[in-house]
Amino acid sequence: MQTAIFGDIHGNIEALTAVLQTLSNLGVEKMYCTGDIVGYGASPRECLELVRDLGICSVRGNHDDYTTQTGGREWRIRPEAREVILWNRSQLGPEHLDWLRQLPHVHQEKHFSVVHASHVYVPQWPYILNERAAIHNFLFQPRSLCFCGHSHVPVYVSHRPGRRPQLDLLHNTLLPRRQSVAIGVGAVGQPRDNDPRACVVLFDDEVHSVRVVRVAYDVEGAQQRIRSAGLPDELAERLALGQ
Ligand code: ZN
Repeated sequence: MQTAIFGDIHGNIEALTAVLQTLSNLGVEKMYCTGDIVGYGASPRECLELVRDLGICSVRGNHDDYTTQTGGREWRIRPEAREVILWNRSQLGPEHLDWLRQLPHVHQEKHFSVVHASHVYVPQWPYILNERAAIHNFLFQPRSLCFCGHSHVPVYVSHRPGRRPQLDLLHNTLLPRRQSVAIGVGAVGQPRDNDPRACVVLFDDEVHSVRVVRVAYDVEGAQQRIRSAGLPDELAERLALGQ
C-alpha cells in the first residue's frame, strides 16, 4: 500500500490543496502529517480544518505548539515567526487551539514512527541535519523507520550499529531492512531546498521504498494572501525561492 507522509504545511492552503489533489490523482488514501500545520502562511484555519476533517493522522510541530502557548515561549523565536504566531492565534478559535493541543508528539505504526523534529525532546525541536542530531535521534527512535519534518529539506539519514550515521538528500530509494532510517519529508508550505514546489514522500510498505513527489502550486496566490494579511513580506518572497 502507498502511504503519503508530508508536513510543514505552515498555513499555505494553495500548496496543501495542490498536494491533496496530486495524492488523489495517484490514488493515495492513507496520509500522515509531520506537524507544523500553522505558522508563516496566511491560511492557518483553512489548513487546520482540512487536515482535521480529512482525518489525516498528525503529530504536533513547534509552530503548532507555540500557537497554543500563552506563557511567552514564543519570545524565544525569530521576530517574524513570533509576529505570525500572534496573528495565527487571532485567526483561530478555541476549538482549533484545542485540536492543536491534543496532537501527540509521536505517532507509532507497526513499522514506522512519525515525529515533527526528532525523538529527542531535550533540547526541544532539534534539526536532524548533522551527525550529532542524527545519533541522538537514533538512540530514541522506537522503530527502524521514522518520518520527520522540521528542517523543510528532504533528507535520508541511515544508521548501522557501530558505524557513523549517513546523511544525504532524499531521492527515490529502496529502504534497507537491517538499518535504522530517518526520512525528512521536506515541506509542503515552505520548502527550503531551493525548489519552491511542495514536497511529499510516498512510502510503499510492500516494496519497502520511498518516493519523493514535488508538486507545483499557485505560489503567487499564497504570496498575495500573505501580503493581504499584512504579514512580513519576507515570508512571501521566500516561497518563490524555496528558501
Ligand atoms: Zn516548519
